[in-house]
Amino acid sequence: MRFLVLPCDGIGPEITRATMEVLEAANQRFGLGITSDYEDVGFPSLEKYGTTLRDEVIDKARTYDGIVLGPQSHMDYPARDKGGVNVSGGFRVRLDLYANVRPARTRPYLPGKKMDLVIMREATEGFYPDRNMYKGLGEFMPTEDVALSVRKLTSKACERIAREAFKLAMRRGKKVTAVHKANNFIITDGFFLDWVRKVHQDFPEVELNDVIIDAMAAHLDLASELSGSLGLAGSINANAETGLVCAQAQHGSAPDIENQNIANPSSLILSVAMMLTWLGEQRGLPAMVEAGSAIEHAVDAVLENPANRTRDLGGQVNTGAFGALVAAEVAGTALAQDVPAGYPADYAATVEAAKSQGKVVIYTSTDIAQAQALLDAFTAKYGIAVEYNDLGTNGAYNRAISEAAASQMGADIVWSSAMDLQMTLAADGYACNALGCQLSGGQQQRVAICRALVYQPRVLLLDEPLSNLDAKLREEARYWIRKLILDLEICAILVTHDQTEALAAADHILLLQNGRIVQDGTPHDIYSNPRSFYAADFLGANNIARGRVLRAEGANVTIGGEGWELPGQVRDGARLAPDTQAQAVIRVEQIHVTDQPGPDRLEMVLDDSLYLGDRWEYRVRRGDLQIKAHGARELPPGRVYAQIAADKVWVFPAENAA
Ligand code: NAD
Repeated sequence: MRFLVLPCDGIGPEITRATMEVLEAANQRFGLGITSDYEDVGFPSLEKYGTTLRDEVIDKARTYDGIVLGPQSHMDYPARDKGGVNVSGGFRVRLDLYANVRPARTRPYLPGKKMDLVIMREATEGFYPDRNMYKGLGEFMPTEDVALSVRKLTSKACERIAREAFKLAMRRGKKVTAVHKANNFIITDGFFLDWVRKVHQDFPEVELNDVIIDAMAAHLDLASELSGSLGLAGSINANAETGLVCAQAQHGSAPDIENQNIANPSSLILSVAMMLTWLGEQRGLPAMVEAGSAIEHAVDAVLENPANRTRDLGGQVNTGAFGALVAAEVAGTALAQDVPAGYPADYAATVEAAKSQGKVVIYTSTDIAQAQALLDAFTAKYGIAVEYNDLGTNGAYNRAISEAAASQMGADIVWSSAMDLQMTLAADGYACNALGCQLSGGQQQRVAICRALVYQPRVLLLDEPLSNLDAKLREEARYWIRKLILDLEICAILVTHDQTEALAAADHILLLQNGRIVQDGTPHDIYSNPRSFYAADFLGANNIARGRVLRAEGANVTIGGEGWELPGQVRDGARLAPDTQAQAVIRVEQIHVTDQPGPDRLEMVLDDSLYLGDRWEYRVRRGDLQIKAHGARELPPGRVYAQIAADKVWVFPAENAA
């Protein structure tokens, strides 16, 4: 099945994007096999090709199964001879899409008088001047003060639109109302009414009324306005004989809100849903019909929650986020049906319960990265959408948090309450639609963090969040995790065995040994003032010198072993008597090795210089003292001199050794 997508003008591209996301969700869930191609019409086409509608596009459209057409800024088009062709009219006439089908119903969750009707409008004739003539326009001025308009009605058009209306009524409430003005347009509207009555004879089960247009206008007061919002009504233009169909929103191009990402895409989404249903019924494809109604239900399910509404309905959710929510809802229902056997019992039970309510509301606090079962079954986006839906509350995200988090995730800035979805999108363009098991480790971590953030926690516990990432990614990840936490202004407790991660990510470190806090302080404090051998040895790259205390004077001690001695300092008020066993920690970066002798330099033997790329590592020894140091250049093996400041030789009693 192939669709031709024509985003057109104004808010067209924005609402088309959101709509196509929903269509793709349905496509995947119901296995519709729909592929889409795009073409320019409207202003983008005028700019490129000098006309708002090219013949090639119409010809191409004929070869497609369905057309998705965005709204046009017709009123701003130049004259016909300057390329301004009515796109919508062009499609309707040249593809003979005579039936414009416009459902209008109130939603129980939105204010409005109860109403559920479908307006079936003839779209190729009547007073439309740009489409009711074979040649020329049905509107003209014989003199400068006389303007005329020709109205055209043919038997064929009257009969087929009436037939479509009765056929539709048979599937609904079996009521048709012919709206007319036959009291004044005795010949034309009278002709139309005659045809309606004639067709009615083929549908005796359907009740037929006729109402004069003035009365009907008063009854309906713009049907789609009543149904909550202009943005909430779908429409298709179809020809039941040729099978050609075009989904088109009921509203216009809304230039006043163009490019602001605030339009409500529901109308086009619902139009596409109608098109799927129509195609499914025409061609006997139940999956298409099911997909159409799934989308319609998804729109309702999303809109029911005031937190999910777009601005025209009093909410704050933007166009893209709304599309993502509906898409997730469409995909979500599928998961209920597709959950494989063998998942944990509570999980299966939750799914069953959700299924019976017609949607999935699976709650899990399980980290997606650690729950293999979830990983296999869920798309990342759905996983997060579920968390979000479970909140059931408005504004789980406020704008500041959303923006900060989204930008940390590298997302387009969004500020809707559906921000978690957007963050996932950020996790990597494709990741949102990938199954959990298809995500890389880094993506899984981001998804997991998004899911936790959905709850807007004041404290976030990160238990070795980066342990399964490769080294490079870990470096990046620890940076964005820190930035995210700072930007969100929340407190996070990060548990890690990776000392560099701890130093890089934390403001404050609690160092634990055997379940007890042995030191706490800033990373700098912990690194440069360790209070125990354990603390000193745990962080950094170290040399350990084990020996005997030779001399002691308060904190200043000299330790020594076979053929060497080193002045150092006893840490943390410990007392070391001469002749006791001691061990010293010396950070690798605190040892300076040179081939030049000097005062306070210990003569040693260099066994080897190892090339590490950005520096050299020296392996030096003296007696039973073996140490590592770094330097910028290669030194030949042999005699070298090591300079080590006494206050960097941290001496501890030997029994403290871990
Ligand atoms: P409109 O439907 O574009 O806008 C009317 C009002 O409704 C505006 O305030 C707009 O911001 C709002 N609105 C419309 N769609 C919305 C949505 N999806 N979400 C939120 N708010 C929405 O009608 P208009 O202003 O009379 O016409 C603007 C242009 O659209 C004109 O050039 C007109 O010719 C064209 N138009 C095109 C179609 C079509 O392509 N089928 C139909 C009607 C009007």
